[in-house]
Amino acid sequence: FTQPAEESKVRMSRTVNDAMWSWAVPAIHENPRLVSVSPQGARLIGLSLDAVKQAPLVWSGNERLPGSLPWAHCYGGHQFGVWAGQLGDGRAVSLGEVVVDERRWEIQLKGAGRTPYSRFGDGFAVRRSSVREYLVAEHLCSLGVPTTRSLSLVFTDRLVMREGLEYGAIASRLAPSWVRFGSFEYPASHGNIGLTRQLADYIIKYHFPNILQDEAKETDGWNRYAILFSNIMKKTAKMVAHWQSIGFCHGVMNTDNMSVLGLTIDYGPFAFLDAYDPDFICNHSDPEGRYAFNEQPRVALWNLLRLASSFSLLIDQVKNPVDALGNKTYEPSQATVDIIKQILNSFAHEYKNQYVVLMRRKFGLFNLAKNTDTDLVIEPFLALLRKAKSDYTFALRSLCDVPEIISHKEPFAPGGPIEQHIDRLVERSQLPCDVDSWKQEVLEYYRSVFVPRILEDAGHALDKPDFATVGEKMKQVNPKYVLRNWVAQDIIDRVEEDENCIDQALELLTTHAFSDSVPDHLRDLAEKYASPVPGWGQGLQCSCSS
Ligand code: AMP
Ligand code: MG
Ligand code: MG
Repeated sequence: FTQPAEESKVRMSRTVNDAMWSWAVPAIHENPRLVSVSPQGARLIGLSLDAVKQAPLVWSGNERLPGSLPWAHCYGGHQFGVWAGQLGDGRAVSLGEVVVDERRWEIQLKGAGRTPYSRFGDGFAVRRSSVREYLVAEHLCSLGVPTTRSLSLVFTDRLVMREGLEYGAIASRLAPSWVRFGSFEYPASHGNIGLTRQLADYIIKYHFPNILQDEAKETDGWNRYAILFSNIMKKTAKMVAHWQSIGFCHGVMNTDNMSVLGLTIDYGPFAFLDAYDPDFICNHSDPEGRYAFNEQPRVALWNLLRLASSFSLLIDQVKNPVDALGNKTYEPSQATVDIIKQILNSFAHEYKNQYVVLMRRKFGLFNLAKNTDTDLVIEPFLALLRKAKSDYTFALRSLCDVPEIISHKEPFAPGGPIEQHIDRLVERSQLPCDVDSWKQEVLEYYRSVFVPRILEDAGHALDKPDFATVGEKMKQVNPKYVLRNWVAQDIIDRVEEDENCIDQALELLTTHAFSDSVPDHLRDLAEKYASPVPGWGQGLQCSCSS
C-alpha cells in the first residue's frame, strides 16, 4: 500500500463504487487530552494502561503510529426502513489492526474528522455522545452482552455545531471487525457480485474460519455463504436476546448499525429501561416507535431479511446479476429461497431459546429447565412490573433477595419479610394502578409461583445449594448498576468540572456492576446511582444528532 492521497481530497465527500474502503486522514485537534482509558480495553490490544496514556496524541488522531495507514469503510444501509444508498464511516477512521492472543482488533477513532463518507456531516463527535459510547461499550461487556469495546476517550477544545456549539471529543473503539449488514448490501445493490463475495470470503477467513470445515461436512447442499448467513442470524438472535433480558434499547437499528459479528455497535440514543414499559422508545427521532424496546427482535429479523437479499446472490453463486445495460436479471433460485426461508424461520426459535436461557438464570433457575418457565414464571412477573411501571433493573435485583428471605421463619406472615420486600418494590414503582391489590398480586406470585419454582429447582441440584448461594448466584446476572440515561447525563454534567469522574463511573459500571459493596472511593457514587430515578431523569430521550 502507498500513503494516502493529498489530505483535502481525502476529506471530500464522494461516491465510491466498487471498493469497500478509502484512505482517510484523522483531523488535527486543538488541545487534545486523554480523559479516560479502559484498563480492559488496553489489555485487549496488549498494552498497559501506562503505555496507552503515554501516547495521548495517537488516540486523538493528531499523531500516527509507525506503519499505520488509516482508512474509512464504505457501506450502505436501510435507515428507518428505507434504502439510503452509500453511507460509510463518516466520522470513524480505522488506524489499523492488532492481533493479540490470536484475537484480532481493529482500532477505530470516532469523531476523527471528515472522510469520503461524511456527506453533509462534519466528521466530529461531541462530548456527551462520546462519553456515552465510551462507557456503555465497556459496561455492556461487563454485563455479558456481545459488544464492540472502548479503549480511550479524548476531549478537545474544538467547537462543534449541533443544536448549539459544543466541545468535541474522540473515542477510540475496538472490534474484531466493524463490518455491518450494510457493508454487504452496498456492493450487492450495484450488482457487484465479485466484491460482495470477496467481503464474505474475508469475513469467513478471519472471523468464521470454522465455516470452511462445516462446508466440507455439510450434506444438505449448503455452501459457505449459506452457513455464514446462518451464523450471522444466530449471533444476531443472541445479541438481541441479551438486550431484551437486560432491558437495553439500542434506538437506531438501521442495517448500517448491525454488526455481522452480532456485536452491539454504534451507540447513539440507547437507553436502559427504568420503569418496565415494553413500548418504551429511547430515540427522540423515532416518534413512530420503529425501534421501541419490544420491537427489537422483530426489527433484527427484518434487518436479516434485507441482508438475505445480498446473501442470496452468494448462495446461488451468481456470476453476473445484471445485463450489459445494467438491468437486474437475477432472480433467486427456488433452492436458495428455501435455504433463506429455513434460516429466517429459525430466528424466532433461536431468539426465544437464548432469551429463556438468560431469563431463567435471572430468576434463579439454574438447574432444571422447564418448558413452562416462560409462561408461568417469567411473563407473569413482567406483567406485574408492567402494570405498576416498576423499575426493571431494581425489580430483578430485588428478586435475588427472595431465596434468602424464604429461609426465614414464616416469610409470608402479614407484615413479614416478603411483605416488607414488596414495599421496597413499591417505592420503585410508579403504580398507575391500585396499590393494595397490586401488592396482593405480587405476594400471590411469590407464594404460589416463584417460591415453589425455585424450591423445585434447588431440589434438583445435586449439591442442594443453600438459598443464600442461590441469591448470590442470581446477583451475578442481575446487575445493581446500569448506565441509565439519567446516570449518563449526571456523569456528562459533572465531567466539565471533574474529568476524573469518567474513570470512577467506568470502574463502578464495569468492575462493580453486580456488587453490593464497593471500594471506599466509589461509595458515594454507588449510593447515588443505585437510588431511584430522580424526577428530572424520568423518560429522558436522546436524538441521533450527536
Ligand atoms: P449513525 O446512524 O449515527 O450510526 O450514522 C449514520 C451515518 O451518518 C453513518 O454513515 C455515519 O458515519 C454518518 N454520520 C453521523 N454523524 C456524522 C457526522 N457528524 N459527520 C459525518 N458523518 C456522520
Ligand atoms: Mg452508524
Ligand atoms: Mg452514530
